[in-house]
Amino acid sequence: MDFSLSVEEREIRDWVRTFVQKELVPLEQEVLRRERAHQPGLTDDELRELQLKAKESGFWGVQTPEEYGGMGLSATMTALLEAELGRTYVPFRFGGAADNILFHANEEQKQRYLLPTIEGTRTSCFAITEPGAGSDAKAIRTTARKDGSDWIINGEKTFITGGNEADFTMVFAITDPEKGANGGVTCFLVDRDMGWRSEYIDTMGEWGPASLIFDDVRVPESQILGELGQGFTLAMQWIGRGRYLLPARAIGSCERLVSMAIEHANTRETFGAPIADRQAIQWMIADSGVEIEALRWLVLHAAWQVDQGMDSRHAQSMAKLFGGQKANEIVDRVLQIHGGMGYTRELPVERWYRELRLLRIYEGTDEIQRRTIARNLLKGHAKVGGALG
Ligand SMILES: Cc1cc2nc3c(=O)[nH]c(=O)nc-3n(C[C@H](O)[C@H](O)[C@H](O)COP(=O)(O)OP(=O)(O)OC[C@H]3O[C@@H](n4cnc5c(N)ncnc54)[C@H](O)[C@@H]3O)c2cc1C
Repeated sequence: MDFSLSVEEREIRDWVRTFVQKELVPLEQEVLRRERAHQPGLTDDELRELQLKAKESGFWGVQTPEEYGGMGLSATMTALLEAELGRTYVPFRFGGAADNILFHANEEQKQRYLLPTIEGTRTSCFAITEPGAGSDAKAIRTTARKDGSDWIINGEKTFITGGNEADFTMVFAITDPEKGANGGVTCFLVDRDMGWRSEYIDTMGEWGPASLIFDDVRVPESQILGELGQGFTLAMQWIGRGRYLLPARAIGSCERLVSMAIEHANTRETFGAPIADRQAIQWMIADSGVEIEALRWLVLHAAWQVDQGMDSRHAQSMAKLFGGQKANEIVDRVLQIHGGMGYTRELPVERWYRELRLLRIYEGTDEIQRRTIARNLLKGHAKVGGALG
């Protein structure tokens, strides 16, 4: 068993580490200042400029297939890169990416949606959650009713990431109430100017998702993505595209946070000695160090399964659950080690505290991951200790 990175992997990882350190970390104070004033951390132009800078060194479309101008990197490599990006809270992502399900578009749709999204001239959002249907996504109520050769969409989506900025959405609606999720849900590509509107949702994070309102939005048949009735399969494919990537990012955040805690513990003195001398503090540092390593291997193992073409859902659920839980415990400890300063907005710890909380909720809550893991074990779809097959 070889845990080492290849020379190429190490080079790619180190390039991103340097990019984060040189280009992103210096922006942190300004990003914090803007987000507190309810402005986006990076403007579209700033994000674009950074993306183009990365592109000059070949970092473009990390997981986009090479035939579409991307790097087509493996899941394992992508997880390593995400961990590096997680070391800062500057909201950067590499350019050249598109939602995986857009690759199911037909040729005409690819020209209108997929290619401009990869180019960065169009932006998408993925809309399945509704006020009455989150974990239980099969309970969606948004409908698309056939009218001549058109479809008329009615309903409301909620908590849609990027929904305020997107110029088109991939929205999931019931096209056959009899069949429901089993062949009765369809995905539509709907431009904002076809008639849907969005409303900002204020959250404890400094950037808000949106509600999307569809009020008799008429779209032609040509807006169906994939096949009629295939929507639920596409939705699950989107959600399953890289659940390991969320905890991957948390690895980097936790590494940075624990480094801050170590530095503070070594320098802050109470009762005549650095707090690092106290066992209470040492144990928090030790537990955090162990948990970060455990998380790294859960994430990389899930990513490795993706690369092998194996059914990785069980491993991905375990990585997502553990990542959400441990990242929240770690940021809480780091805040505690910083005492009152940890609670202030002078340090970014509280920013991460709020951001990491989301990890336990979106793309499957802790409870839903446990439900999946338990079901797999109880029904024999996965074995305890069966990670290596
Ligand atoms: C910031 C943010 C961004 C998001 N981005 C998107 C997006 O881009 N697109 C999109 O479609 N959705 C998005 N979501 C929605 C997100 O996926 C849902 O919020 C999440 O799946 C939980 O659904 P819910 O909020 O309806 O909670 P509910 O499903 O109502 O759950 C409430 C509580 O009950 C628990 N629970 C539910 N069922 C069970 C069960 N069977 N057993 C035990 N416990 C259970 C849950 O774990 C949770 O603790 C986003 C959410 C947030 C907060």
